Amino acid sequence: MVRPRPRPLRRRRPASQARLLHSMDFIWSPWRYDYLASTDKKPPSCVFCIGDDRSRDAAKLVVFRGIHNFIILNLFPYTSGHTMVAPYQHLETITEAKPEQLSEMMELAQHIIRALQKLYSPNGFNIGMNLGQAAGAGIREHFHLHVVPRWIGDSNFVNVTGETRVLPEELHRTYERMKAAL
Ligand SMILES: [Zn+2]
Repeated sequence: MVRPRPRPLRRRRPASQARLLHSMDFIWSPWRYDYLASTDKKPPSCVFCIGDDRSRDAAKLVVFRGIHNFIILNLFPYTSGHTMVAPYQHLETITEAKPEQLSEMMELAQHIIRALQKLYSPNGFNIGMNLGQAAGAGIREHFHLHVVPRWIGDSNFVNVTGETRVLPEELHRTYERMKAAL
């Protein structure tokens, strides 16, 4: 007599939790492993304190300089076009920032969104800040605003593996395209 094989245990998540999963944390982005694996290794200095030397902007992925803030590509993007805005000033959190710094930050976010719409035709965007360790800030000493373009289905494993659309574009290609569009 053939005994039935034990079936793999499947846990169902409650509906409220399932909705929470539709967040950027669950985009399938294996290249971020390099980042997650390197979080113990602290950078020698703050990567958002970029200084005045523009000759190294391309190497640092700085794509645009405003008056109070600059735009920089994320070295470990969730999706192609994942961009950040940060103030030049080394500030830990938004409560330390001046109104002109914050308002220009939002203007630059608009600027990024227009450029990304033109270049990548995303279906939506996640915009946000992670302030403090508990909130998931990677570099918490210098606050910054993330702009992440999203496509319908980009958090779905099958879609990501079945299509090439959200697989990472080579960063310097993204840099050249964004530099021209901003
Ligand atoms: Zn800094």
